[in-house]
Amino acid sequence: MSTSIYSGPVFAMARQQFAQVADHLQILEMDRDRLLYPKRAVAVSCPIHRDDGRTEVFQGYRVQHHLTLGPTKGGTRFATSVDIGEVAALAIWMSWKCALAGLPYGGAKGGITVDPYALSPRELEGLSRRYMQEMIPFVGPHTDVMAPDMGTNEQVMAWFMDTYSMYQGQTINEIVTGKPVSAGGTLGRREATGRGVAYLVGRALDHLGIRADRATAIIQGFGNVGSVTAYCLAERGVKIVGVCDHTAAYHDPAGLNVAGLQRHMAKNGQLAGFSAQGLIEPAELLLRKCDVLVPAAIEQVITGENAPRLQCRILAEGANGPTTPEADAVLQQRGDEIFVLPDILCNAGGVIVSYFEWVQDLQRLFWEETEVFDRLYRILERSFQQTIARAKRDRISHRMAAMAIGVSVVQSAKQTRGLFP
Ligand code: GLU
Repeated sequence: MSTSIYSGPVFAMARQQFAQVADHLQILEMDRDRLLYPKRAVAVSCPIHRDDGRTEVFQGYRVQHHLTLGPTKGGTRFATSVDIGEVAALAIWMSWKCALAGLPYGGAKGGITVDPYALSPRELEGLSRRYMQEMIPFVGPHTDVMAPDMGTNEQVMAWFMDTYSMYQGQTINEIVTGKPVSAGGTLGRREATGRGVAYLVGRALDHLGIRADRATAIIQGFGNVGSVTAYCLAERGVKIVGVCDHTAAYHDPAGLNVAGLQRHMAKNGQLAGFSAQGLIEPAELLLRKCDVLVPAAIEQVITGENAPRLQCRILAEGANGPTTPEADAVLQQRGDEIFVLPDILCNAGGVIVSYFEWVQDLQRLFWEETEVFDRLYRILERSFQQTIARAKRDRISHRMAAMAIGVSVVQSAKQTRGLFP
């Protein structure tokens, strides 16, 4: 495609990664745009009443990458960074992630360009409901199913579900996932991404012959993914020596008190103020020595500049797109030094349990928590095995291997279905 509406560094990164994998898979030039470019993109203006009486309009987006395997699936991000290019990249990554896990979905992503923490609860509810109302013509339980992402949570999902249901005249739980259990959510969804990250870190430690109770970890980001990962790793005996969010970074070689950090976070909504000790520069934290480094915040934090200086043994990508292609090239040069758990494998626990939530909602049949996690770990185990086997077989990085599996699934589905009309 010579021109498109998608631009920006995050979209460029998704495109560059795809080009690499397409070269590896020897995908014909003429088939590449059909695989890469999103099927649909919607931009909406969401006006709300502010508490001071003003009316303000926020820009919202939804990108549906492909509809070849079933409905599209993906989170909704409320952040000031949100633009159509970023949302499209995240939708594309969701496609490869769902395909690698064997879920019957294409990828989607949505978002609003807003700082959700600058809104009052009433304003946040108004904006969430207005966004879903604007999206009604484009989404549906068999078309596109939303979920949480950065800046959104269970409460926002409950408002989405309620708004959609009020317009339909009946409760339609299966329109979004990541809802509270009291509103048709599944047991285990809230912890799913973090628990999945911890499970895969456990598998990588086993693979490398490192005992969990002698390992250390540093976690960037202390939202839903980072905080649950920290908790689950600590439960496995891993010592958490560093954490940060956008307000503060702490490092303590003797180990941080994860339960204390979680309590502080629940009360204050940020890590700043937790302690006067152990404060360090956030950028410094990524470079400290540890066995496991978990970027669980935003995109493009591991770059060509800091990748040569990483001192971790395992890079577990809890966030989407934390590692740039330049950093990947450095990691590749460093050979076996750093074992990468690529994002589309590492953080897939969230969408896998979202899939379970959707299935349960459609069937009106709810599972025990043990069933949710048993099934989650089975899928992650299979994806982990497939990824490392493919990387070994083709002598490629774990990221390329995971993407090659995902892209091939979508490509063969498109090929067998053919081109309509
Ligand atoms: N936003 C999460 C992700 O990026 C979850 C998506 C979902 O559960 O549909 O994977």
